[in-house]
Amino acid sequence: MNDISESRICQNCKIEFVIEKEDFKFYEKIKVPPPTFCPECRGKRRMSWRNERTLYKRICDATQKNIITMFPPEQKLVVYERDFWWKETFDAFKYGQDVNFDKPFFTQFRELFSKMPLPSLLNENVVNSSFCNCVHNTKNGYLLFASMETENVFYSSRVIGAKDSLDLFGGFDQEMCYENVMCDKSQRLFFSERSMECFDSMFLSDCRNLNNCIGCVNLRNTSYHIFNKPYSKEGYKKFLSNLKLDDYTNLSEFKKKFEIFKKTLPKKYANILRCYSVTGDNVTNSKNCRFCFDAYRNLEDCAFSTHALDLKDSHDGYGLGDNSEQLYEVIDSGANAFNLLSTICVHECRNVYYSYNCHNSSNLFFCSGLRNKSYCILNKQYRKEEYEELVPKIIQHMNDMPYIDKKGRIYRYGEFFPSELSPFSYNETIAQEYFPLTKEEALKEGYSWKEKEERNYTIDIKNEDIPNNIKEVEDSIINKVIECEHKGKCNEQCTEAFKIIPDELSFYRRMNLPIPHLCPNCRHYNRLKQRNPLKLWHRHCMCKNPKHAHLDIGCPSEFETSYSPDRPEIIYCERCYNQEVY
Ligand SMILES: [Zn+2]
Ligand SMILES: [Zn+2]
Ligand SMILES: [Zn+2]
Ligand SMILES: [Zn+2]
Repeated sequence: MNDISESRICQNCKIEFVIEKEDFKFYEKIKVPPPTFCPECRGKRRMSWRNERTLYKRICDATQKNIITMFPPEQKLVVYERDFWWKETFDAFKYGQDVNFDKPFFTQFRELFSKMPLPSLLNENVVNSSFCNCVHNTKNGYLLFASMETENVFYSSRVIGAKDSLDLFGGFDQEMCYENVMCDKSQRLFFSERSMECFDSMFLSDCRNLNNCIGCVNLRNTSYHIFNKPYSKEGYKKFLSNLKLDDYTNLSEFKKKFEIFKKTLPKKYANILRCYSVTGDNVTNSKNCRFCFDAYRNLEDCAFSTHALDLKDSHDGYGLGDNSEQLYEVIDSGANAFNLLSTICVHECRNVYYSYNCHNSSNLFFCSGLRNKSYCILNKQYRKEEYEELVPKIIQHMNDMPYIDKKGRIYRYGEFFPSELSPFSYNETIAQEYFPLTKEEALKEGYSWKEKEERNYTIDIKNEDIPNNIKEVEDSIINKVIECEHKGKCNEQCTEAFKIIPDELSFYRRMNLPIPHLCPNCRHYNRLKQRNPLKLWHRHCMCKNPKHAHLDIGCPSEFETSYSPDRPEIIYCERCYNQEVY
């Protein structure tokens, strides 16, 4: 038993990383060797298997229909229309392979992965939702990704519970909201971040329980404030109407002013609420967690996980939880998962290893697309005793004959699937969203890169000709091809042009908002910039307020924060922050 932490050199980036004694305990419990990649390189490797928002046209290999799918057409895979895949009771064992001890298992898995039919998209229970992926219980969605329980929500990602809203990133229970990042339980809230229980407001940062406020930071339980100053109801209304924010130029001006104002006020080192012993950011009601991000509720004894809820005793994952336990290196666990290792979109499963898109199953090793099965290896059925005899041999073989990738990196038992076996290029996946790289950097690190497609759009409205005020916009703008301000020159999967859909136009009109100047992808990447990276730095509280208990010597508190030391924000410990705010 390892009672001390240990430093290792990452196989991938060659930078030293620390394995803590709690990590060793976890690895011993689930019987895997310690990782050879550092947490960040593990994150990139995992996420390079998750394409949420890059969609393609492809012919369904079963029905020959034109379908929308996340799998790029040039990838030699068998892709079925999602609904057909689920309705059809095809024989997954038909694609089964014998265990072969003459070649690495990752290679054998990739062979199975290439021939076993894949559902075109990862949606569940959706109604009238075109161009959505990884969504669940969704009605009337459009360009909506990795979200659940939504209705009439467009251009949004990682949202739980939202209605009649556009352009959201993260957060839960939002209604008639627009351009928010990690906001909760709010209505008619626009252009805000990390705020909750706010109504009829815009440009808020770290606020709670406000109504009719604009351009405010760190405020609690109040109304009619502008740049943190109180106004009479009449004064507020007058100020707001003078701003004329239905005009794109004025809105952009105000946005800039707010950015400058935001930096003059302290920020809490992390958005951690009602937690005990937690490091990371955007974590609520959790305990004993390290390096966890965007955890909505109830995480316990977890580490290196993102976008999770109701999860216990798990390390290294994305999209986890809902009554799940003992997961390691998992993408998209679904509900009620137990003991998964290196799985992708394996739902309602127990004791499943190295598998993709399996459901309601248990005791699987290197399987793809199985439903209601147990004791299978490479999509072949075994008796329980045979399975239990084979598994240790496979693990031994994975260690004796590991997979070695083009860069010479070695993948033994316990390591996640190599990125080079992923059907996606780095920039098609969420790896690019959380750990953005340029093409040159990605290729240097051994990831593949998807070249920009020749789109040859005929632009109907040049960016500079977009009507400035929503009142100038005519109904005929629907179906017009509008040029994106970035014109494909950014590193944000820019589609160069975009359209406005009817429900979207009526939203802008109802809310008196000008139409956007960026395509949905560039808008998404802009919101991503508003959230901090999945990284932590050890820093000191910057508070020098002589009125606080620490007097004039400065606050001695230290913490782990996702604000890097070179950023301009003023970062406070929780106690100093609360003294400023309340
Ligand atoms: Zn590394
Ligand atoms: Zn764009
Ligand atoms: Zn862009
Ligand atoms: Zn402090």
